[in-house]
Formats: sequence, C-alpha cells, structure tokens
Amino acid sequence: DPHVAKFVYDFTEGNKDLKDLLGGKGANLAEMTNLGLPVPPGFTITTEACKTYLDSGEEPAALRDEVSAHLDALEATMGKKLGQADDPLLVSVRSGAKFSMPGMMDTVLNIGLSDKSVQGLARQAGDERFAWDSYRRLIQMFGKTVLGVDGELFEDALDAAKAARKVTVDTELEAADLKKLVTKFKKIVKTEAGRDFPQDPREQMDLAIKAVFDSWNGDRAKLYRRQERIPHDLGTAVNVCSMVFGNLGPDSGTGVAFTRDPASGHQGVYGDYLQNAQGEDVVAGIRNTVPLAELESIDKKSYDRLMQIMEILENHYKDLCDIEFTIERGQLWMLQTRVGKRTAGAAFRIATQLVDQGLIDEAEALTRVNGAQLAQLMFPRFDESAKVEQVGRGIAASPGAAVGKAVFDSYTAVKWSRSGEKVILIRRETNPDDLDGMIAAEGILTSRGGKTSHAAVVARGMGKTCVCGAEELEVDTKRRRMTVPGGQVVEEGDVVSIDGSSGKVYLGEVPVVPSPVVEYFEGRMHPGADDADELVEAVHRMMAFADRKRRLRVRANADNAEDALRARRFGAQGIGLCRTEHMFLGDRRELVERLILADTEAEREESLKALLPLQKRDFVELFEAMDGLPVTIRLLDPPLHEFLPDITELSVRVALAESRQEPHENELRLLQAVHRLHEQNPMLGLRGVRLGLVIPGLFTMQVRAIAEAAAERRAAKCDPRAEIMIPLVGTVQELEIVREEADQVIAEVERTTDTRLKLAIGTMIELPRAALTAGQIAEAAEFFSFGTNDLTQTVWGFSRDDVEASFFTAYLEKGIFGVSPFETIDKDGVGSLVAAAAKAGRATRPDLKLGVCGEHGGDPESVHFFHQVGLDYVSCSPFRIPVARLEAGRAAV
Ligand code: ADP
Ligand code: MG
Ligand code: MG
Repeated sequence: DPHVAKFVYDFTEGNKDLKDLLGGKGANLAEMTNLGLPVPPGFTITTEACKTYLDSGEEPAALRDEVSAHLDALEATMGKKLGQADDPLLVSVRSGAKFSMPGMMDTVLNIGLSDKSVQGLARQAGDERFAWDSYRRLIQMFGKTVLGVDGELFEDALDAAKAARKVTVDTELEAADLKKLVTKFKKIVKTEAGRDFPQDPREQMDLAIKAVFDSWNGDRAKLYRRQERIPHDLGTAVNVCSMVFGNLGPDSGTGVAFTRDPASGHQGVYGDYLQNAQGEDVVAGIRNTVPLAELESIDKKSYDRLMQIMEILENHYKDLCDIEFTIERGQLWMLQTRVGKRTAGAAFRIATQLVDQGLIDEAEALTRVNGAQLAQLMFPRFDESAKVEQVGRGIAASPGAAVGKAVFDSYTAVKWSRSGEKVILIRRETNPDDLDGMIAAEGILTSRGGKTSHAAVVARGMGKTCVCGAEELEVDTKRRRMTVPGGQVVEEGDVVSIDGSSGKVYLGEVPVVPSPVVEYFEGRMHPGADDADELVEAVHRMMAFADRKRRLRVRANADNAEDALRARRFGAQGIGLCRTEHMFLGDRRELVERLILADTEAEREESLKALLPLQKRDFVELFEAMDGLPVTIRLLDPPLHEFLPDITELSVRVALAESRQEPHENELRLLQAVHRLHEQNPMLGLRGVRLGLVIPGLFTMQVRAIAEAAAERRAAKCDPRAEIMIPLVGTVQELEIVREEADQVIAEVERTTDTRLKLAIGTMIELPRAALTAGQIAEAAEFFSFGTNDLTQTVWGFSRDDVEASFFTAYLEKGIFGVSPFETIDKDGVGSLVAAAAKAGRATRPDLKLGVCGEHGGDPESVHFFHQVGLDYVSCSPFRIPVARLEAGRAAV
C-alpha cells in the first residue's frame, strides 16, 4: 500500500533529489551507490520518522519493524550480524539534515562492539590493537553524544594513558593500554550517566538513532538554524552505514577531498589525508594530516581511483564536490559527498569556469552565486603596502580582513562584543561550544586544524574571516594569551589583525584598502587588463549574465551629484529616491528657519524665493549626473521641527540671554515655534504631503525648482527626466490638491521657457490606507514608489528608531521572526499589501510605473519578492546596486 508511511530507505532506493526526506548525506550516499561508486551498504531513516518522533515523543511503531527489516537485509548482504560475537557487523549511526549543519549533530562510529565482540573483531582483523582502539572510540562517542557524558573526561583519561606511556599520539598506545582505557571509559560512563555502557548491539543502535533525533532540538542546533535561517521543522534523517576501517594500520587511513580548491576555485588536488585513522581524526586536527597529493606515493592505486571518482562526481553534480573517504587496507570507500561550501570569490570563479567547460549555462551559473557573496567581495582588504608586523601565517580558511582585540574564549568574545568591542576569537581549535563566540567575533584564528577543521567550515558558512592552523602560534587558553615566534606574548585585549585571504596574522591594527571588486565597479580596474585578476573577470562576467537576464531595473537612492555619479558607475539606471530634506541643511538652515517663523505672507514668500535658486541648482547638477535617466525627486518629507534647533539647547540659550539681559527676540520666537511644532508622535504627525497642504508655497517652490532646472537642461540640449514624488499620501484627495498646484506651476514654467517638460507626478505608497485605496490613488498618480520602511512601521505599528534596540533581539531569539522586517520584507504582511496595491494600481492605470525605495530595495530576498509581484524597479543605496542587479538577474532565472 503506497499510502503507508515508509520510514526507511536502503541506500540503493534513494537519490540526490530526495534531500527533504533523506537529508543531504543520505540522498548523496544513495546517489553515489547508484552511480556504482564504492559506498559501504546501509540505509537511511527519513526526516518524516524524526518529525513523527519529535511530535509524539515516541518512535512510531512501524519504524522499529522497518529498521529491523532493513537491518536483516544489511546483515544478509554483509554475511554477518550486528555485534555478532565471533565476527561482528559494525555500523555508524550518522545524522544528516537537509542542510549541512557542521558539527551540530553527532555521529557514533563502531556500533555493535561489546566486551564479547571486541574479541571477535580482534581475531577477524588479526589486530588486537585495532579492535580495542575501535571499542574505546565507541564508548567515548556513545558516552558523549548519546549518554551526555562530558567529553573532556574521556579526553583527560586518554591523555593520562598517553602520558603514562610517555607517548604523544594515540596510535602509539598498544592493545594493553587501550584495554585498560576501555575499562576506565566504562567506569566514567557508569559514574556519569548512572548506567552501564549497553552491551546489546541493537540497544546501542536504537539509542543512537534516538539521540540523533533529539539532537535536532539541541540548543546549538537551534542557534545555528536561527543564524542560517534554516526552518526549525525540517527534522533530520539518520543514516545507518556499515563500518569500514581507516585505523587498521599504515595501509589504511581516512581523508577529505575537494574536486576544486574551495578558496580559489582552481581545479587540482585539494584535501587532507591521515594514515591509520578513523572518522573525525582528520577534521578534529588531532594529528597532523598530509596534503592529499602525498597519497599518490602512499597508495597509488587508491589515489588513482579517488581521482577518477572525483571526476565522475564533478561531472555528475556539475559543481565543486567535497568528499569524505576511507581506505581500508588498500580498498577505497566513499563515505560522503556533497556540493561543497566555498568562499565568495571561489563561487564566482567556479560558476564562470563551469560555463567555460560547457557543464552549465549562464542561467544556471547565476544560481551558483548570490548577493551576500558579492557584498562580501566588496569588503575592504588589508593595505599590503602598510608597515605591518606579521607574526604568523596559517591557512586562509575564510576571506576578509578582520581587526580586533584578542580574546581566548567564547564567553569573553560574546561579552566584549555586546559592549561594542571588536574581537578576534583565538583558540587552539574550535568546537561546537564556540559557536556563539564565533558569531560575536570579527574573525577567528586557530593554531590547529586544516581547511576542513570545524573553525574553517563554520566560518566559511557564516562568511566570517578565519585563519586556521597557524601552528607557530602557541595558544594558551587557560592563561588567556598567545606566544608568537620570537617569544612575544599577545595578551587578552591586545589588538591583532588577521587576513582570511592570505592566512597572515599581524600584531596591531593594519589599515584596510578597497577591494578589487569595488575598484572594478568604480571603473578604476578593468576586466581583461593586465592588472585585473581572475576574480574581477569572473564578477564582470556574472554581472553581464545577470543584466541580460533581469527584468527589474535598478535605481539608486541618491541626494547629490556625487552619489548619483557613483551610482551610475555601479550600474544604476536612474535615481529612485532623491530626498530633498538634505538640501535644506547646512547654510540653508537659516532660510528654512525664516520660512518656519514667517508671520506674514510676504515674509514667507521672501524666504521661499531665497531657497528657489539654491534648490534649482541642486537639481540641475543631479539631472546632469543622471542625464537620460529618470530622477525621482521626493518633495519635503520630515517634520519641520527637525530643521529647528534642539529644544533644550534653545531653552538654555533663551534663559542665558534673559539673565544677561541681552536681546533674544529671535531665540524666543524660535523657542515658541519649537513648542508649537512639538508633536508626541512626529512620525505620524505633520510631515509629507501634509506639509505641502498646510504650508503655502513650500511644495510649489520645490516643483518650480524642478521644472526650471529641467527647462535649463533642455535648453542645453540635454535629456533631464524628472519625476516628482509626493510622500505620505493616504488618500487620493491629498494627491489631487497637490497635483493641481504642481500642474499649474509646471504649465507656467513651460510657457515662460517655451519647453515641453513632460514631468511625471506620482506618489509614495507608504501608509496602509494608501495601499488599500491604491486603485483610487492611481487615478492621480503616474507612478507608485513603495516606501517599505514607513510601510513596515505603519503596518506593524513598530517605531523603527525604538524597537530595534528595545525588543527585537527578544523577538529574534523567540523566533517570532527570523530576520528584522526592516531588513527583509515581511512577505505575508507588508508584502501582501505591496502586491495588492500594485495590482489595484495597474487595474486603474495599466502603464503605472511601479518601484520600491527603502532599505529593502537592496536586500537579496526582498529583491526576489519585488520581482515576483511585478514591480518595474528597485532603488537602493549606491553601494548595494551591484547586489541588487545580481539578485534581480537571479530572480529571473
Ligand atoms: P559529519 O556530518 O560530522 O561529517 P559523518 O556522519 O560524516 O559526520 O561522520 C563523521 C566521520 O565519521 C566522518 O569522517 C565519516 O567519514 C566517518 N564515518 C561515518 N560513517 C562511517 C563508516 N560507516 N565507516 C567509516 N567511517 C565512517
Ligand atoms: Mg561531526
Ligand atoms: Mg561527514
């Protein structure tokens, strides 16, 4: 019956597209199995089983039977039973969610070993040491991850055993030592967990499966998911995989490999290998690995086979893959593959390389990069010409230039960063307990571990600068200090700089310079030129792919000619928001004050007349910078008190003048005005279109300045394309009144200058009422620009200036939203109003132009949403334009 839930899939039954059900690891193990690659047989318990278990608190009844059936089949294939005394089948129980969550979930190896079967394993392998090493690993992993025993107790016991033997690495311990260690480990389990280490192999397996399920809701997993915006209701799959052994002597080993360099994207042999080792030994940085290339001289046959498999995988997945493998006495086994994480720079390079290889097309290439990566590439870097004191060099694990105070534990990292300090987290190696410290730090520096160590993998995932394996640095976390070659000591709080692109570590603060990608956008570096590096070339090509694909146009929020010119260099197709309030500051403040204080019509007109030529000049410059492209000018929006002096400051001035009996008539009038204009809730007060309606002549002066500036540019045979935007409209009547006056002024300027100006007039949609009556408003508007900042404030009833600091952290922690609605558009609420208003507006006026200004215009996820609801353009700050262009292209594929 196909309707009965199927909770378990053999590796031969799944495929790579079943990630939702089998998790990433399980789906790819199945894919490799079906490609005919050497994968140890096994089966996958689905995410559905996990969800059912987590919902009800107990394993679904059918699950146990299905697991039994699959275990029977596995035992038949392998010709031995789980934990069989004379020749035990051993398995690993491995978690694997849809998205890889490095270090979050735990894997238990060697399940099936017991006091009895360890003897059988020793006889079968002809290696007693190996059997006891495997057993002690099982008790250690099982004790820690399944029974919750503090892992350090086992580590300490292991260290003590090594010390007693005067050896430094665990491979030097002999069978007898390991036997004693097993006894010790079992005692630790008994004391700490209050139970014996289970001798029944099936009980071991069942408890491990349950522990994997439970780990989905562990604190660290939850924190990671929140950080990475992974939904909490996916559940994890569990893989049961027959064991292969890399710890069977020097002709065995375990390793990790990449089909390309995850830092540069170059093809080649990248990875680490460790002889006579099992599982996580490579990633944990316990012993020093050798570069993968050396495997060729250690075991040529396995090396050749691995190279062949890597090529098969890359051609099959059409992407960079990372791989975990084990060699058991000369036989190669594949234990994991997935499309590998990579640095932002490598993502761009790999995407274009794969296009050149004919493996993917331009549209597919766009799905391989994202705006966040591009933003990361636009970060500044260290100035190489600066005088620096380099004290070490590690592995360039995750790019960026980070400067901060040295801290040696996560607690301090979090504490100091909360109080506004920039910190670099320095550890010998990191583990999952360091996650919140890593999040808090500017960068991470470790003295151990390779490109695949925990620190490196997690930092790359977070886009955080990381240098790892800087071996000449002696990190002493207990004494909170680090000793650098030459003996100098870095104490907690000393400033260090780390370069995640070169791996270099410096003392003190190193100055930073702009990234080559920004130099390229600025037009100071050209792709194809000698000095252009591969990265610039790749970014240039990807931007071209995106520009060819995208439907959304990208404009800039720019208030002056300088910003407008930069925006143009960055690819802006016009200005979507020019805020005129910035033009009323500085020297012009006095004129604005006079306007506000005016008692008579004549006084008011006089100050407006003085402002007019200044405004006009602003617009002439702007039209010049954006010649031939639309420039949307928003008429004055903020409450007037923002142009007046601060109330307390003014009161003091008045009081002082009074006591000194100095003339203070002007101050007094100002103070009265400030009192008159004072509002409890200025955000909802006299601002936007309301100013235009109650202060005679203000908006018409601005409209005249725009019209005269446009006429002047036209007379100069240029192509100004002004659009006049009325802010904070709630009803069509407001717009109609303002519009009528504006039309008159424009007609008058057209008459006197004998020019047809073709100025468009439109409005912002930033109040719920405007969105709800968009159909009516469109009758008086030639365009809408969604002001999603104010719309978010008014739809949620959030005062942006207050809530972000006061309770948003609590909201984020409680998962009420995964990201601030001011950062990424709230699709369900604010977004649905945008969609409805766009539709209603277009129903009234089919050629209504629709855009968005506000922070969301440069936010990747929001850009996709605006594409979907059919807007014509997004507008964002000049620096975010490349990101918006790229994301608009990605949205269109
Ligand atoms: P992670 O998600 O942390 O990588 P894995 O499930 O891949 O966890 O397992 C951890 C380590 O144990 C890896 O190095 C993996 O290759 C190794 N491992 C897992 N299952 C087996 C197995 N059946 N035989 C040998 N090694 C295994
Ligand atoms: Mg792990
Ligand atoms: Mg793995």
